[in-house]
Amino acid sequence: MAHSFNEVDCVVIGAGVVGLAVARALALAGREVLVLEAQGAIGTGTSARNSEVIHAGLYYAPDLLKARLCVRGRDLLYAYCAARGVPHRRCGKLIVATAPHEVARLEALAQRAATNGVHDLQWLDAGAARALEPALACEAALHSPSTGIIDSHALMLALQGDLEHAGGMVVLHSKVNSAKVLDGRAQAAILLEVNEGEWLQARTVVNAAGLQACALARRFAGLDPRHVPTPCFAKGNYFTFMGRAPFRHLIYPVPQVGGLGVHLTLDLAGQAKFGPDVQWLDVGEGFDAPDDFSVDATRAAAFYAAVRRYWPDLPDGALAPGYAGIRPKIKIDGAISEDFCIVGPAQHGVPGLVHLFGIESPGLTSALAIAECVLQSLAEGLLVQS
Ligand SMILES: Cc1cc2nc3c(=O)[nH]c(=O)nc-3n(C[C@H](O)[C@H](O)[C@H](O)COP(=O)(O)OP(=O)(O)OC[C@H]3O[C@@H](n4cnc5c(N)ncnc54)[C@H](O)[C@@H]3O)c2cc1C
Repeated sequence: MAHSFNEVDCVVIGAGVVGLAVARALALAGREVLVLEAQGAIGTGTSARNSEVIHAGLYYAPDLLKARLCVRGRDLLYAYCAARGVPHRRCGKLIVATAPHEVARLEALAQRAATNGVHDLQWLDAGAARALEPALACEAALHSPSTGIIDSHALMLALQGDLEHAGGMVVLHSKVNSAKVLDGRAQAAILLEVNEGEWLQARTVVNAAGLQACALARRFAGLDPRHVPTPCFAKGNYFTFMGRAPFRHLIYPVPQVGGLGVHLTLDLAGQAKFGPDVQWLDVGEGFDAPDDFSVDATRAAAFYAAVRRYWPDLPDGALAPGYAGIRPKIKIDGAISEDFCIVGPAQHGVPGLVHLFGIESPGLTSALAIAECVLQSLAEGLLVQS
């Protein structure tokens, strides 16, 4: 039976903050854009399960994409929030050394930040830190004034608004099951199977499926699977503080392996939460992401211990299980990668196709810069083609 295929210029798969930022950028560049989202609403994935922190960009090794895209994304994001009235606050954060041996790690962090172009950090001795935050216990602290918090859902609504104003559209309940790269370098075309047996043909496809990005990329017939990293997943649990916490800044320990350490974040209403911890999930050899977001109450003991290192007066019984997110981590050549992985035509040779893998923290901060990078990757693809 002959199929008739609906055709569209660009498809972005996934309406999280990154997919929406990419779709907006493509639409503003004059392209016709559809965002296909499996769920019944935008932003129900990792974009709704994070700390909502605008990161300053100080943690990442300078050669990583994360280092560049976080600083660029942070600047774009503050400007965007101001222009579009997205609720946010530049509240600043303190990163604290809670034992003498951590002071050297704090110094190393300050150096790395400077290399990344983050020049506004202030070194605080214990007294100066307590002058800012009297409830804090620490040996020393770094103050990052350009760290902030944001209403991530308001951000996504603003991005969707821009997309629609520029003629684009989000289509909900539209799960992309598989895809087929049609051959021919001159005329790019990718066939997408949406839901059950509906087909859509696009010239440009951006896979921003978050936790499912690797699994979905493996179902792109015609794409060499060597270009798809192996996913792995680390859950991050949060506990909510029952009461009013005595802090005005976000408080972070020195980073741990796999995450930034159990930190205190505040939302725009002043509610404090602690997290995320790092709980590696075993999915065997499978590519599909786990979907258990429950928080195991027995993890509370570890939270009390971690938080009391910088807030000794945390009262007993003050923490209640909150929510959890899952970090979309990836392995490349068997090793866990620390970086975002943007795989476009220059890497895999398929014109018009970009996959976004491993978009964990600071993906929210970096979203607008990732969008710039995707457009650049597509433009480089045109050069490869010609
Ligand atoms: C615990 C935790 C804390 C974090 N804290 C911060 C922070 O404070 N600051 C920061 O900058 N970053 C933070 N991040 C990172 C940030 O949240 C993510 O990088 C960002 O939200 C990723 O957005 P996304 O659009 O790529 O993915 P998602 O938000 O997961 O969106 C992907 C979308 O794709 C859809 N989808 C999946 N498969 C399909 C399919 N086959 N067809 C159609 N649609 C599909 C999903 O339904 C989903 O809506 C944190 C992450 C975690 C896990």
